[in-house]
Parts: sequence; structure tokens; C-alpha cells
Amino acid sequence: MLGSGTSHGVPAIGCECDVCRSTDPKDRRTRPSILVQLGDDAGPDVAFARAVRSILIDTSTDLRMQAIANDVRRVDAILFTHSHADHIFGLDDVRRYNQMQQSSIPCYADEETVANLKRMFAYVFNPPAQKGGGVPQLSISRIAGAFSLGGVEIVPVPLFHGRLPVLGFRIGSFAYLTDCNRIPDASWPLLEGVRTVILDALRHRPHSTHFSVGEAIEVVGRLRAERAWFTHICHDLGHAATNAQLPAGVELAYDGLVLTI
Ligand SMILES: [Zn+2]
Ligand SMILES: [Zn+2]
Ligand SMILES: [Zn+2]
Repeated sequence: MLGSGTSHGVPAIGCECDVCRSTDPKDRRTRPSILVQLGDDAGPDVAFARAVRSILIDTSTDLRMQAIANDVRRVDAILFTHSHADHIFGLDDVRRYNQMQQSSIPCYADEETVANLKRMFAYVFNPPAQKGGGVPQLSISRIAGAFSLGGVEIVPVPLFHGRLPVLGFRIGSFAYLTDCNRIPDASWPLLEGVRTVILDALRHRPHSTHFSVGEAIEVVGRLRAERAWFTHICHDLGHAATNAQLPAGVELAYDGLVLTI
């Protein structure tokens, strides 16, 4: 879990609320992103034989500091959930992975996100003649259904973030469902058998584009997931106080959380 915070991050700039002034490191939340590292039951040697072993989901505004804090040495592929600023504005930082890996990085997104990335990062996809410090080297593909990366199936899960269609991703028994407040009927079968889920839960009060804590708990119940971790958390929710009230198996995620699936 690279980042578990909402778009403003926690602490929010200039805020004096209890959570923003908290000294609990789990109350410090960078912008939302996760890294999926593909392992293997046979051990790390097998994992390292995979051509793709480190998949970044979104390039958050805080990507550079997240990569340093978590010592992320490789990014073999990038999946995008949608093109809101908090999920994409760290894209330029992937230049370091281009340098270290001596290769471009394949990116995957839905059609609207591909179009927005090309527009918002015109200097990347339509680079100027004078390169200076260089631009990210990326190849971008439109997602049209499930596909394979590093020998595992990536299942895009259509979600609604208000009226905006976005993608969650399922990998095996794990699903990452950020920035959503509705799972359409057609997507529930794609989530059957998910045991571990990371799910959007912005705050207690309802919001027009994010699940509230109560709504997210209902989703976890319907999914019958064994473990659920909430993300995209705003400064309304203190880590320790909120966790004390959540049902068994449901917790707030935090930056640096490592889950083994
Ligand atoms: Zn977001
Ligand atoms: Zn605050
Ligand atoms: Zn969003």
C-alpha cells in the first residue's frame, strides 16, 4: 500500500484538526496507489524469473516519495484506475524506472483514461524536440477485458465513481476497488470469490463519488470477503479510533501496509 489517502492527502495543507495534527504515523496518508509484486509459492527465485513482477496501480501525486519510502526498485507495468489528478500526477517520476531498467514501461487504462493521459501529458506522448531531462518512456494500451501480465490474469472491474466509469482490478483472490461509490450489477460476478479487498471508504458522511464507511461495510458483506482494507481515507477518520469501531476483518489501510495474498 503506497498511499491510502484522499486527493488532498492527510494531513491536509493548513488543517488543524485532530487527525491532521496526529502523531500516529498511520494518520499520515499520501495519495492513493498500490504496488503489486508477483511472487510464487516456489520461492523468490521463481518470482524473479517472471518478465513482469512489479505492477504499479496508478501514479499518484506522491509517487516519488512513496517509491523512496518503500524502496520500490522496479516497475514493470502500470495500471490506471482513472485519470483524476491524485492518481496520475506522479507519472513523470517513472523516468527513474526507465533509466534503471533501460526500457519503456507498458501502461494499461480504459479508453477515456488513455485519451486523458495523452492530453494531460502531451509532452510525454508528443514529446518536444529538445528533451532536456528526458520524458517518461511509456507504451500505452487500452484495456478491453481481462489480460495477462507476468503470468497472472488481470481482471478489470468496471465501477462508478459518481457518474464517471472507472476501473477496479482483480488479481486472483484480491481486488483493488478505489474511487467508487457503486458497483454495477454486471461487475459483481467478476468479484465472486474475492477474499481480500481494498475498497474506497472516504469518511462516515455520504459523498457523491466515494463510498462512505457504512456503504463500504455493506459492500464487504455482500462480497463475503474475509479481509477488507479501506482506502482513499480523508481526515475525518482517525486510524486507531476508526479501527476500534469497525467489524472484525475490516480495517483502515495505511501507507506502507503489506498484504500477502
Ligand atoms: Zn482519488
Ligand atoms: Zn484535517
Ligand atoms: Zn477519483
